[in-house]
Amino acid sequence: MDFDDQNPKPPRKPGSPEGPARGSKAALALFLSLGVLFSALFLFNERNDATEIPYSAFLTYLDQGNVDAVKIVDQFEIQGTLKGKTGAQALFKTNIPYVDLELLKQLRDKQVKITGSVKGTSPLQILAEFAPWIFGFVIIWFMLRQMQGNNKAFTFGKSKAKRYVEPAKKTTFADVAGQKEAKYELLEVVDYLKNPGKFVKMGARIPKGVLLVGMPGTGKTLLAKAVAGEANVPFFHMSGSDFVEMFVGVGASRVRDLFDQGRRSAPCIIFIDELDAVGRTRGAGYGGGHDEREQTLNQMLVEMDGFDTKDGVIILAATNRPDVLDPALLRPGRFDRQVVVAMPDVQERTDILAIHMLKIPVDENVDVTRIARATPGTSGADLANLVNEAALFAIRQNRVNVEMQDFEEARDKILMGVARTSLIITDEEKRATAVHEAGHALLHYHLKYSDPLHKVTVVPRGRALGLALSIPEKDVYSRARSWLEDRIAIMYGGYSAEMLFYGETTTGTAQDIRQATDLARKMVCEWGMTDSLGPMAYGQEEEPIFIGKEIAQHKDYSEDTARRIDAAIKEILQAALVRVTGILTEHRDQLGKLADELVARETLDDNDVRALIGLPPREGKV
Ligand code: ADP
Ligand code: MG
Ligand code: ZN
Repeated sequence: MDFDDQNPKPPRKPGSPEGPARGSKAALALFLSLGVLFSALFLFNERNDATEIPYSAFLTYLDQGNVDAVKIVDQFEIQGTLKGKTGAQALFKTNIPYVDLELLKQLRDKQVKITGSVKGTSPLQILAEFAPWIFGFVIIWFMLRQMQGNNKAFTFGKSKAKRYVEPAKKTTFADVAGQKEAKYELLEVVDYLKNPGKFVKMGARIPKGVLLVGMPGTGKTLLAKAVAGEANVPFFHMSGSDFVEMFVGVGASRVRDLFDQGRRSAPCIIFIDELDAVGRTRGAGYGGGHDEREQTLNQMLVEMDGFDTKDGVIILAATNRPDVLDPALLRPGRFDRQVVVAMPDVQERTDILAIHMLKIPVDENVDVTRIARATPGTSGADLANLVNEAALFAIRQNRVNVEMQDFEEARDKILMGVARTSLIITDEEKRATAVHEAGHALLHYHLKYSDPLHKVTVVPRGRALGLALSIPEKDVYSRARSWLEDRIAIMYGGYSAEMLFYGETTTGTAQDIRQATDLARKMVCEWGMTDSLGPMAYGQEEEPIFIGKEIAQHKDYSEDTARRIDAAIKEILQAALVRVTGILTEHRDQLGKLADELVARETLDDNDVRALIGLPPREGKV
């Protein structure tokens, strides 16, 4: 990618190469001259070569009447001459270690010639006093300069934002395979950046900040660049970790500088990668208090508030840890819009591979779909890497085109790497996940009160291996008992399907079981939905701030009631499980078909499932 430094460099004069070689020569010359200067100063300062003697020795000389003359300097040093000696031998000096009240009397008794002086403070001497400090600072400066790279010594506080300049080939949405939903959401931002005036005139509120959320390598940075490319505006790119460096106060000023740059270049995009590096919840870090990161975050909040939508600056940020972000960042007027950048499914993986294969000569026998199928759980970055590795294998084999076996070798290599860093999914696991998710999904079509299925997928997200997602047809604020019972039934769909197909279940059911139990407990204890216990609230609602919820929950019922509550919960859950098992057993063929299709296509939407089980397509998109 073509980036250049935002800080303009002075034009180079021909014949004066501006390289590290020249820089270090200059540094050496400076060091040497400084060294000479300072040693000269030290010598100059040490102009008298009197022998330093202890104060007690001086007193002895004085007692014996051997002191000829003294000069008291600054009331703490005595420079003097001894009687009966000449030249350097006669000179001595001593420091007065305590306030000696006797001294003056003694000196007068012995008739010593007394003079006094205040040490001269010529500018040269002041310089000499500070010389070691200056020297030290110069050394530190050079060390920092080394660390920061060339020409950066005086720009600590300057943001290192890179500006995406006039690239020969802009990144556009066409470079991003899949990510349909993310692109759709970002299109609005593109429209706005192309013509901010239009939106302002309409009074439409445009999000100031858009947060791209997704696992590493899913293409967040790529999407941000594509937005800039599509809108044809400047793009300032900075990573959260760039803000938080070793110097106190640098982060905050970098933020200020970055936003200043943005303001000057509007309309433009400011992209903050790895937002979590600065944006972690305040007061939760080690060290506590107002550390560097916190100041940086505060500055960021201030800057974001200082923007007006009509300024034409959009702030994009990316993170793979939205959960650790400070809630203040997500408030309205800041990053109030989140765009999920998901891991690719098999079709999307095919498209990503295809995009990257355009850049290399590929043999015509290469089956892209097969590679995509064989790389479950990989991200866009992994796939880009895979294509590159395949090309390297081909080069090593002296081949003209990259062949299928190169891709296979590259895949094995990549999957090994992926296995180390993220979750690798074996074929059996994928199959088991498909059965589990098919169980959840199928129930949506055989239960009366459930919401319609939105999509079902075996593409892992976060810690979940798969997902069956339903969306209510309209906003709902209260739920009937029959809906809740169907909801619990759907939660058991995965468990029941695993049981039917494998005769045992996996740890993948933990979350479902917990959610079902929580819901059943609420039905019993809060919503009075059981006949045996009736409409009565058991356990007081208390939301303590500091202690765990469980501990603080008031138990205001007897042991006997507790037992009856447990029994009622169990009854609800048991009934749901029995019902689910009945339905899935009856439609076992559909369940198998759905699981197979999930293994093959990884993500299915409502109409895909309907087609599969012989239902007419739904009117309008869910
Ligand atoms: P993230 O910022 O989410 O960690 P990146 O945007 O840095 O991921 O992606 C790294 C690389 O992976 C990209 O430069 C691109 O080559 C490739 N890549 C990721 N997702 C896609 C995609 N959807 N289409 C094409 N290439 C992709
Ligand atoms: Mg990135
Ligand atoms: Zn489940």
